Amino acid sequence: MKQQEEWLAFERQHVWHPYASMINPAQVYPVMRAAGVELEFEDGRSVIDGMSSWWSAIHGYNVPELNRAAEQQLQQMAHVMFGGLTHRPAADLASKLLEIAPENMAHIFFADSGSVSVEVAIKMALQYWQAKGSPEKQRLLTIRNGYHGDTFGAMSVCDPESGMHHLFSGVLAQQLFAEAPTAGSDAQWDVAQLASLQSRIRTHHHELAAVILEPIVQGAGGMRFYAPEFLRQVRRLCDEYDLLLILDEIATGFGRTGTMFASEQAGVHPDIMCVGKALTGGYMSLAATLCSAKVCEGIHSDGSGVLMHGPTFMANPLACAVANASLDLLLASPWQQRVAAIEAQLEAELAGCRELPGVADVRIKGAIGVIEMQDAVDVPSVQVSLIERGVWLRPFGKLIYTMPPFVISSAQLSRVTAAMTSACTLFDSK
Ligand code: PMP
Repeated sequence: MKQQEEWLAFERQHVWHPYASMINPAQVYPVMRAAGVELEFEDGRSVIDGMSSWWSAIHGYNVPELNRAAEQQLQQMAHVMFGGLTHRPAADLASKLLEIAPENMAHIFFADSGSVSVEVAIKMALQYWQAKGSPEKQRLLTIRNGYHGDTFGAMSVCDPESGMHHLFSGVLAQQLFAEAPTAGSDAQWDVAQLASLQSRIRTHHHELAAVILEPIVQGAGGMRFYAPEFLRQVRRLCDEYDLLLILDEIATGFGRTGTMFASEQAGVHPDIMCVGKALTGGYMSLAATLCSAKVCEGIHSDGSGVLMHGPTFMANPLACAVANASLDLLLASPWQQRVAAIEAQLEAELAGCRELPGVADVRIKGAIGVIEMQDAVDVPSVQVSLIERGVWLRPFGKLIYTMPPFVISSAQLSRVTAAMTSACTLFDSK
């Protein structure tokens, strides 16, 4: 077996990390194991994971119920193709998801990652209008600061400035972008914030297939929160102009914002909805695209329609079995109280950061705590300081934020907020 220095040097030379340079790679920290809410590095140090492995490990790590589900499923089969075959883990998961999803959701496509589930959602919308005899309806409308994934369809609806549009201009589908609302809550809502989206719908509805949004919380495009009223108004406009509404609940789903799905806070039903990330409790990659009976009937309305998608690992039984166990565990837990307690503690312990020099904003929603600095954060040095305080976070842009596992204890969360607070101070003194 290779010595640690050897394999680390090898991987540094040959293995790409997310959004990273291969010739000048940023520092990465080797993790040996993880349990509870802690990651244990190869050098023996432990850190509290305030990121839940990119917002997915809601139950923490090495969870007995999820381990058992994976082990039991392994004894049956790790995988079989979904073309022409089916299996109980997928049927059970579909039934559990439809039970908790908005009541008009009726059909499910199991995809292998969040980005792919967004591609499938876009295909559903385009195929819907094609089958209904309106093939010219093939553009999408969204708001700025959004993020929906890294594949080409998904990238085309990410924020055109902070996203990757500049790298792929001429290749990405030309979608429409409206201004994002600035009100973070219904109390601050002003109807003027709808004007940009409304005018684009009025002008372009004849060529629009759907509006796509992250409901209430915009994640990787800026960790911004918007008023439920905005979502209600978008639903109203989609109904008025006969557009489909796609809600991307990949980051917000499964309790993160305080409700099972963020759309519940607006009382809005999507036509198509994507889930992923926490679906398997962060154990492995699985996502799903759900749609209403109306969308399904539309796709088949020309008599010949089949949905043109079918990845090799569609509905992977191992992932479905773990997702079933994860949903059972979530539903049996006091998750609402846990998320509410995390929200209250984040508010109490991060509020003081609003007064610190260099801090532009502090915002909290459910189990999400965000400190927005006035300038871009120097990620490597902030990360060193966080790790010294026993905390793992991955700041980006001007943001130092946490989305901890729901099972984090109050003492552990205090360590996270203390590390975030000291990271702001460090940043300012530079
Ligand atoms: N949509 C949203 C809202 C996301 O936050 C993400 C991932 N950060 C994705 C889509 C893409 O998911 P994945 O990384 O699993 O492809």
